[in-house]
Amino acid sequence: MAEILRAVKGMNDIFPASVPRKASETLPTSSMWQWFEQTARSVLHRYGYQNLMTPIVEPTALFVRGIGEVTDIVEKEMYSFDDSMNGDKLTLRPEHTAGIVRAMIEHNALYNGPLRLWAMGPVFRHERPQKGRYRQFNQLDVEALGFAGPDVDAEQILLTRTLLRELGLKEGEHVRLEINSLGQPAERAAHRAALVAYFEAHAALLDEDSQRRLKTNPLRILDSKNPAMQAMIDAAPKLMDFLGAETLAHFDGVRAVLDGVGLAYRINTRLVRGLDYYNLTVFEWVTEQLGSQGTVCGGGRYDGLIEQLGGKPAPAVGWGLGIERLLLLLEAVGIAPPDQAPDAYLVVGGDAARVPAMAAAEALRARGVAVLQHAQGADGLPSLKAQFKKANALRAGVRRRGTCARHGGSQAAARGRIAAGRAPPGRRGVLGRRAAQRIIDDSPDFSGQRLPASEASPRRPNESRQTDFRWHNNSISRNKNRSTPSRRSGPATAT
Ligand code: ATP
Ligand code: MG
Repeated sequence: MAEILRAVKGMNDIFPASVPRKASETLPTSSMWQWFEQTARSVLHRYGYQNLMTPIVEPTALFVRGIGEVTDIVEKEMYSFDDSMNGDKLTLRPEHTAGIVRAMIEHNALYNGPLRLWAMGPVFRHERPQKGRYRQFNQLDVEALGFAGPDVDAEQILLTRTLLRELGLKEGEHVRLEINSLGQPAERAAHRAALVAYFEAHAALLDEDSQRRLKTNPLRILDSKNPAMQAMIDAAPKLMDFLGAETLAHFDGVRAVLDGVGLAYRINTRLVRGLDYYNLTVFEWVTEQLGSQGTVCGGGRYDGLIEQLGGKPAPAVGWGLGIERLLLLLEAVGIAPPDQAPDAYLVVGGDAARVPAMAAAEALRARGVAVLQHAQGADGLPSLKAQFKKANALRAGVRRRGTCARHGGSQAAARGRIAAGRAPPGRRGVLGRRAAQRIIDDSPDFSGQRLPASEASPRRPNESRQTDFRWHNNSISRNKNRSTPSRRSGPATAT
């Protein structure tokens, strides 16, 4: 047998929930993913953000210059390689912002004024894989370029709140907002000098990592999670005390909006973020539910980056959200995506019904009804009983929508509901031949199609006599006592 090839370590396949995974693989399902993307797109649209797509591979120099040489990402997490064709030094993007800024500069994209943009897709970091930490993961990234004032900082924080809320997360309970101001470069330089002097005076308390950071990036020591250093770090000089009036006014401008709309936050003076380019506002949404992988979303201002990468100076603010981590959080707190089962399962009674059944399915789909058709196997169509069993099993695999009362009401009402693209939620029933025929007749593409006449008893589906097909709402009743529908009383098995 040929050798089985496996995915690269730390890089995952995302399956629908119907494919069981090993218990050790804590990964989101694709249905959760699709729900997240739909929700995110809808929220982004409402805030006026537009999509930008940049390449996954960029010149290595972009990230070294953009993210900073002594950051974790550039020091040890980048997937960098030489292009074997021409020797170019390339890197799989470890985040979106640098590529977006490169695109702005290269195409002079801010020429006509500021832009609100978003990007979504895989990023790559060579880290030790564990729950919530992967080597290929996905980020939703949002950037506003060209706006200097605090409004857009606040807008982006509000956008994250809306997104988290619409996914069902509760502030205070599942996620918390932390904010800080990193000031301007001169203020940071003064603080940094005071900090270096302080850490040098306490050098004996620094662990090996921090000793090294003292030489390269002393601010990162504040981010240390080493419990032995916490008291010393807590007493270190605070950047807040070095911030001038303008910086404080910007910070107050952001806070005034958050206060004004009742968004609770904590000022975390130790929040520095892992990338070099930030100034003024920084923020993070954190959770206690995912252990040490506690940051779900983080970002802030980076007014100097565009100029640093060779562009005409322009302010900017943005954030990145780890999609896998967010979806794991949703799962951890018991939030499930909405039911994505089809509205109807098409059961085909025999060969004669196969083609018109498919035409009817097309007519319904054109009306917005999600239809799953029982497809032939190598031996043709199985018995009706087997097909109904499949329809039931499908329901078993999805969450129940509300109660499961049998579908009553008139055929016309059922038709109206279905034509409107909504199978009655929480109802059970079968859409019969006549209702299906009407939908076909109403559909300009299919109005010529005739469904084969039924020879079946409407009272009880009997395989040997059943030659037409039935629409089967995915939540068909298994209750033997259900009332048998008559032609007059309803759509349930009107054939
Ligand atoms: P951390 O401190 O957890 O390493 P970070 O500061 O490196 O996070 P950012 O660079 O700000 O993270 O990336 C934004 C978001 O991407 C994070 O808040 C997190 O949700 C997610 N993220 C970061 N690294 C990973 C990873 N290796 N796997 C999955 N998600 C990640
Ligand atoms: Mg990291």
